[in-house]
Amino acid sequence: MITLPIYDMVILPGVNFYFKKEILQKMHIATANTEEDVMFLMLRTEQERDKMKPDDFYPIGITGKIESIDDEGNISVKVKDRVDISDIEVTSEQISVTASTRPGKADISEDEVIDKLDQIRDRMLQFAQGFQWGVWAKGFILHWKSINEIVCAMSGYFNLANDEKYAILEVDSERQRIELIEKVIYEFIEMSKIRDEAVTAQKETHEQVYRESAIKKQIDFLQKQLDEMHPENVSDVRKFENRLNASGMNPEARKEADKVLNRMKQEGKNSHEYGILYDYMDFITSLSWKKEDAVDVNLSEAEEILNEQHYGLKKAKDRIIQQMAVMGLNKKQSGSILLFVGAPGTGKTSIGQSIAKALHREYVRISLGGIRDEAEIRGHRRTYVGAMPGRLMEGVKRSGTSNPVIVLDEVDKLSKDYSGDPASALLEVLDPEQNSNFTDHYMNVPYDLSDVLFVCTANSIDTIPEPLLNRMEVIPFPGYTAIEKFQIAKKHLIPKTLMNMGIKAQHLKITDDALRKIIDDYTMEAGVRGLKKQIDNLSRYAAVKLVKGEHKSITVNEKKVSEYLGRKAMRHESILEKKMPGVVTGLAWTRAGGDILFIETSLSKGTGKVVITGQLGDVMKESAQIAISLVKSMFPKEAEILAESDLHIHVPSGAVPKDGPSAGITLVTALSSLVMGKTVSPEYAMTGEVSLRGKIMPIGGLPEKLMAAQRAGIRKVFIPFDNVDDLEEVAKEVKDKLEIIPVKEVREVLKQVVK
Ligand code: ADP
Repeated sequence: MITLPIYDMVILPGVNFYFKKEILQKMHIATANTEEDVMFLMLRTEQERDKMKPDDFYPIGITGKIESIDDEGNISVKVKDRVDISDIEVTSEQISVTASTRPGKADISEDEVIDKLDQIRDRMLQFAQGFQWGVWAKGFILHWKSINEIVCAMSGYFNLANDEKYAILEVDSERQRIELIEKVIYEFIEMSKIRDEAVTAQKETHEQVYRESAIKKQIDFLQKQLDEMHPENVSDVRKFENRLNASGMNPEARKEADKVLNRMKQEGKNSHEYGILYDYMDFITSLSWKKEDAVDVNLSEAEEILNEQHYGLKKAKDRIIQQMAVMGLNKKQSGSILLFVGAPGTGKTSIGQSIAKALHREYVRISLGGIRDEAEIRGHRRTYVGAMPGRLMEGVKRSGTSNPVIVLDEVDKLSKDYSGDPASALLEVLDPEQNSNFTDHYMNVPYDLSDVLFVCTANSIDTIPEPLLNRMEVIPFPGYTAIEKFQIAKKHLIPKTLMNMGIKAQHLKITDDALRKIIDDYTMEAGVRGLKKQIDNLSRYAAVKLVKGEHKSITVNEKKVSEYLGRKAMRHESILEKKMPGVVTGLAWTRAGGDILFIETSLSKGTGKVVITGQLGDVMKESAQIAISLVKSMFPKEAEILAESDLHIHVPSGAVPKDGPSAGITLVTALSSLVMGKTVSPEYAMTGEVSLRGKIMPIGGLPEKLMAAQRAGIRKVFIPFDNVDDLEEVAKEVKDKLEIIPVKEVREVLKQVVK
């Protein structure tokens, strides 16, 4: 008898069982013959033949007889009885056992078995129908002649543990076994159904997702075509949806925008909030969210552009080119923040525009003059009625890019009040550490300003808050000399004006002499704004004549200037008129550049009182006190008169506030001249702080002051000796025309002028 161990299979009496010949070899069984008895022993766990031990076997096995062996070695066994086995012996050659047939309990009628078989077959057929393999399986199912056969055939598919499979064999009661089998089969069917449903459901969900996205794409496509055909019908919501999709917004901004857009959908056009939501969406989708690539700057081209548009300004231009070079090396689009400081009309703003052109970037000018409210820079929260974005983001929007050159004009004119400090908001804007996440209150989402190149302008650094000033690099714009103004007018202002007015160059000529006269007699400024205005006036006047046909072409010479522009406006003669004792010309530095000022002093009968007028600041008032004390100590005799008179010190123009210590020497000279009753020649002007001991100390704004002196027709200027180094900054033309006398002591001045 052949003894064959089997694992994880259910073989039951009455069935035909097949196995391959190779299995015999694996079990060290040489051959098998027809009619030979076979015994199948069930293994508890899968085990190699050489390692099998008696304990590895379940106590019930099953016997059969080989019915046939075909040419390919397939062995067919007719299974007969269950057997109780004992005395198992495993050697390397064979496995021998003692076996006795184990009787079953025939407790179910044949009819009932047939009924059950039919039912199982029906259920199986029904189940198989739903599958592609159903047709093929149907043949099998119909051939099943006993329930045991079904179990044997299907046991590989049942999801049963080895123990559970053995349990089917073990049951003695026929009825119980059939019921157990029924349960296993029906469970198998249900499990398969559920698995199938799950797979189908999963498949369906996937299909649905693909379908949905395909439908959406089609809708988008069709909608786009419709929109193109009827642009007037594109709804606000769709317009913004399209803009949002194209915007490249950061996720945070996109979330906020989607939220607002949803509200817009919900509220509908008739809601009073719709307008607010619309404005927000319009703003946020008009901003450029895409990062622009840094373009390599061609420095010589940039230099050319700067020179083309502005005459002179060498130092400023050099510094700008350096900045561009550094930005290029760092591959950055922004760098240190330049602050152009100088009088109005000196080209600060317009050179900002040239920087943008040289860098091939957009230019935006934001005027900060008079801003008091932080919200003007950072925007109002949207809860606020009439909320708007701040000027900064509004400017970025206007530029249409994310890397414009922004000129922040008049940073010195920011003021502070109860509604917050605009300077602190500006600080954040200009801080490279913070500005990549700048959040405008209105937008409520961060925007990256780190690629924006900021340039600031101011007339003076005095009123710029320290922390803001520390962020910037000051570049002075000291103003232009007459020769520079002449060149600027010839090369830039006149051609521009003519072009703007549509006058051809050959129809209106302004002679060089006429131009000089305009500069000298009709303007008195550091910059060229007034000059530009006069050229405009003159051109307008000429335009009328040309249009009326009075002349075909006009040449404005020196004589015609007064005809066109009226009588000359400036006061040179009066400056050089002989003055009374006690009046001296000083030099001042104001927001409008350098200027000359007069110190007037007079005595009247009185008791030694001192009156100071002309809106002088505290520092200047102190200078006046120092001057009085100094004069008293230097000229004790002559100064006795001060004790019995009232002294009046006045500095015209009375409406313009003045301050600073640099009028010290002028005050001392005026008082000395007064007490000594001697006049000071009007060709002199002076500047310098004075100590109580008569030392002259350095002052600021020397180039501007000397330029103003030269403009005003002054010939000789006293300057503090310690300012001599600053003369390097002064244009040669100015130095050539002035006699500049550096002095260390008050006495040196008095010796020369109060004689
Ligand atoms: P600021 O900003 O210093 O007040 P602007 O830049 O507004 O002065 O200049 C006023 C006008 O003068 C502008 O039309 C400008 O083009 C012109 N301008 C100033 N400086 C120069 C210069 N160096 N070369 C050519 N034009 C100049």
